[in-house]
Amino acid sequence: MGHGEAEPHPLAGETEHPLDVGLGDTSVRETENCHEAIHSYGVRDEAETNCLALQLVGRAGRALGLSPAKADRLAARALAETRDTAPERYWNAARCRRGTGWDLGIPGARPPR
Ligand SMILES: [Zn+2]
Repeated sequence: MGHGEAEPHPLAGETEHPLDVGLGDTSVRETENCHEAIHSYGVRDEAETNCLALQLVGRAGRALGLSPAKADRLAARALAETRDTAPERYWNAARCRRGTGWDLGIPGARPPR
């Protein structure tokens, strides 16, 4: 995930509504948006940041106009992609679980499970 100082916003220059693209592209983008937002709150650990961000992807999708069902699919896909592709220090399955300090307690959010 990018950490540049003056990177353009991921949605900058979009000519289509960002949610008109396929869910795969959208889930990556929304995960990145949420990831950088979590960093902006001062969280530095990358695995913690991803864990918190993934709990917010579904909510972010709804805020951007997705139906609850589509937002849930977006969140599920974002989680699967992160689990499959995140470098080791960007994912901690043991700590990203319900009831840990990384659980934001958002009903229906995934992870944690
Ligand atoms: Zn990061």
